Amino acid sequence: MNTPISSLQDASHAPDHDPHCLFCKIVAKQIPSRAVYEDAEFYAFHDIAPWAPVHFLLIPKQHIASMAHISEVHVGLMGRMMALVPRLALQEGCNPYPEGGYRLVTNTGAEGGQEVRHLHFHIMGGARPWLRG
Ligand code: 5GP
Ligand code: ZN
Repeated sequence: MNTPISSLQDASHAPDHDPHCLFCKIVAKQIPSRAVYEDAEFYAFHDIAPWAPVHFLLIPKQHIASMAHISEVHVGLMGRMMALVPRLALQEGCNPYPEGGYRLVTNTGAEGGQEVRHLHFHIMGGARPWLRG
């Protein structure tokens, strides 16, 4: 029988920080970025090459390589990450639903188009046309 999600601890045993990871370096402020939001668990910052008038990335501060690495131990973290999206999207200038809205994208692995191997949500919005998509 599968272990009930509620009995699992909300933490993984992955290392918190990968010294070779670009987004870990951004979290550590070793590489500059334009902040959108920060708390103890998450950091959000503007994408360096935006596809849309609003385009920022939301990441866990903990180094998690991709969605492929997410399991039941991450349900609390992922829930809190998802719950930030509507608030930050409006804060950053996405127009209200349903006429406005935004796109939430998580590229995963080479065939998913992932370039940076630290889990990130792209949040893209604003008036069209967009550069891509
Ligand atoms: P992926 O292709 O992995 O889903 O998305 C990686 C995103 O990170 C791309 O949209 C790219 O523009 C962005 N990016 C790559 N390097 C940097 C950087 O040094 N700073 C910021 N702010 N964004 C970056
Ligand atoms: Zn990382």
